[in-house]
Amino acid sequence: MKALQYTAFGEEPTVVDIPRPSPGPGQVLLRVTAAGVCHSDLHIMASPPEEYRYGPLPLTLGHEAAGVVVSSGPGADRFPADTPVLVYGPWGCGICRSCARGEENYCTDPAGVHPPGISVAGAMAEYMLVDAERHLVPLRDLDPVQAVALTDAGLTSYHAINGSRHRLGAGTYALVIGAGGLGHIAIQILRALGASTVIAADVSEEKLRLAREVGAHHCVIANEAAADEIGRLTAGAGVDAIFDFVGTERTVGLAGSVAATHGDIVIVGVGNGALPVGYRRQPFETSVRSTFWGSRSDLWEVVDLARAGLIRVAVETHPLLDAPTAYKRLAEGKVFGRAVIVP
Ligand code: NAD
Ligand code: ZN
Ligand code: ZN
Repeated sequence: MKALQYTAFGEEPTVVDIPRPSPGPGQVLLRVTAAGVCHSDLHIMASPPEEYRYGPLPLTLGHEAAGVVVSSGPGADRFPADTPVLVYGPWGCGICRSCARGEENYCTDPAGVHPPGISVAGAMAEYMLVDAERHLVPLRDLDPVQAVALTDAGLTSYHAINGSRHRLGAGTYALVIGAGGLGHIAIQILRALGASTVIAADVSEEKLRLAREVGAHHCVIANEAAADEIGRLTAGAGVDAIFDFVGTERTVGLAGSVAATHGDIVIVGVGNGALPVGYRRQPFETSVRSTFWGSRSDLWEVVDLARAGLIRVAVETHPLLDAPTAYKRLAEGKVFGRAVIVP
């Protein structure tokens, strides 16, 4: 079968021929119907060898997956052949206290979380193995190409926002920094979960056009004047819930400078920025946290929001042979919403 692999440090990902896997005990083999292209893949491929902490090379990329069941290994019988599914990506041990809560993203097993496309072979291939049936969510009537980004861009955004639900509601302001794959979905989730006013900030006017289309009330260019403009938009009160999908020094700084008293700052982007926390470093009662992906129940919930018509993912599609181009376009900031590979 064809697969897109990161083969050697510093190399571009390439399409290669590898054997089609077969499911072992408890595993499910999927024919991949859609695989999302995430900015985190660019971070993986930019990681210098001494800091690289992902799966051994060559690594088949793709941690956002939709597919149909082909066959199941011994002991797996809940999903008949041809069932369309989405894949929950942060595979944990399934047994520890975090996994018992469905938070496999925070699995405490020594082996840790081992997601497809990050630690083991992923979805950028004609077929993929899923390690356990509990990592499948029925797709039912949803279109796989439209829905595949729900498994990370949607799930991660939903988990981050769900944890700040007490800061949403009448009269509140929410800010999304970075209106890309995650951010454009986050705007829609914020609208669905009851933020009164949603502000989007991005360095690109065109990304802000998409932000407005999907429901942002105000759009702000993320430059030196952004903090003042956001201050004016909130009549000086500041922003109640801030979601940073970039996470650089500059964007976490912006988040800190516009937070309201009692505000929530959630750092999702892998930009390595640091925000000082301490007496008077942030507005009083402000909380700062970072999040990784989401829980199994979060995935069911964000899929429900999509099924209810509350989330529309903007997608551009590429065939598998063209996947390297999709990554180039993402790196150049040319993708609006999510690039999706259709093998
Ligand atoms: P993307 O490339 O689709 O979107 C990033 C957006 O940020 C773009 O619209 C870009 O124009 C904008 N941007 C860049 N610099 C900016 C700045 N200084 N100020 C404002 N906007 C800026 O990326 P994505 O796939 O949506 O991923 C976003 C980030 O989230 C990445 O760092 C990714 O690795 C990370 N991520 C984290 C998790 C997690 O679990 N924590 C999960 C998925 C992705
Ligand atoms: Zn991702
Ligand atoms: Zn676990």
